[in-house]
Amino acid sequence: MLSDRAKRIKPSPTLAMDAKAKAMKTAGFDIVNFGVGEPDFDTPENIKEAAIRAMREGFTKYTPVGGIDSLKDAIIEKFKKDNNLNYTREEIIVSCGAKHSLYNIAQALYNPGDEVLIPSPYWVSYPDQVMLNDAVPVFIKTDESESFMVKADAVEAHITKRTKAIILNSPSNPTGLTYDRKTLEEIAEVVLRHGLFIISDEVYEKLTYDGVNHISIASLDNELKSRTIIVNGLSKSYAMTGWRIGFAAGPKEIIKTMTNIQSQSTSNPNSIAQKAAVEALTGPQDFINIMLSEFDKRRKFLIKELNAITGLSCLTPTGAFYAFPNTSQFYGKVIGNRNIESSSDLALYLLEEAKVGLVHGGAFGDDNYIRLSYATSIEEIKKGVDRIRDALLKLK
Ligand code: PMP
Ligand code: GLU
Repeated sequence: MLSDRAKRIKPSPTLAMDAKAKAMKTAGFDIVNFGVGEPDFDTPENIKEAAIRAMREGFTKYTPVGGIDSLKDAIIEKFKKDNNLNYTREEIIVSCGAKHSLYNIAQALYNPGDEVLIPSPYWVSYPDQVMLNDAVPVFIKTDESESFMVKADAVEAHITKRTKAIILNSPSNPTGLTYDRKTLEEIAEVVLRHGLFIISDEVYEKLTYDGVNHISIASLDNELKSRTIIVNGLSKSYAMTGWRIGFAAGPKEIIKTMTNIQSQSTSNPNSIAQKAAVEALTGPQDFINIMLSEFDKRRKFLIKELNAITGLSCLTPTGAFYAFPNTSQFYGKVIGNRNIESSSDLALYLLEEAKVGLVHGGAFGDDNYIRLSYATSIEEIKKGVDRIRDALLKLK
């Protein structure tokens, strides 16, 4: 009955884990939820006010498919200011979240059998979006000892005649790590030489720590810019996950095709949310620093606590709001009649026995890890880590 394409994919494991933890909470369990990657901050008031104003003014009708001009202009300004990149309106599309922009790219670019390089660990939706478009995800394993950055020679080794594009994500979900300029330059050289496209997911751009500055690969040189589609959005920077506004910037022809696809699927993103997005991008920006300094405190606390657990080790993330500790030391251990053989066994054990929700590393392509989102209060983090420590100590 169902299409082969649909049968290839699974539900988003991050959203599934969040739903499971929330259902347990509703059922009365005291759950600490490190599961979903979404800021726990409320959307700033000035942004909400802009949405209310838009409704009152009757801005409640269809808009141009790829977004209103004032929002495109605000996005163009953002690229100029933050990334030193110049785009025109025809090179910008606003979609229903960054996930939707990524999906439009997949629809616009891939033919059946095309190969798409995905450094692993990766964000959960990349492979499934590739498969939904009849293309083939090709994973490039990265190493903890190299801060999970894919290296140019590994990229080159995975290129075939069918390779169409590579998906890069810095700051990274799930590792929380960021690419440095030298590594990006080396990857760029390989990508240009082989005529690939780069899909650069920069949704965590504003969330970096320890003086790290986000570098957009498209800003390295002009030829590279013509091969790159940048994806970004408002979900993470402005605590606007539910508003569903994301955007992409890239070559005119690709953006036009993505807009055509959008015109035949969702039409425009929500008109009211678009007005709110203009305010987010052009209004006061102090909210981001307030949120960031809170994330930073949590990050430092969580990483210190995780590394103090015998058998667990965790790199210090320099971006996003995820910790990605190595849990492989616990595989092969037992408690009662429960065997812990994998990251999903461990995540299930921690959820059911310790009442801590998190996502198993297998969902991101590396079973040796688990992912914790620290977009939750210090008190909850402390409670959660105490529970994790106690539960891990019980494993024999
Ligand atoms: N890319 C990455 C790496 C993410 O973590 C997320 C978060 N869900 C997204 C894209 C999509 O964000 P949204 O659709 O909420 O803009
Ligand atoms: N990006 C977030 C996460 O990884 C939200 C969930 C999703 O969109 O899959 O948890």
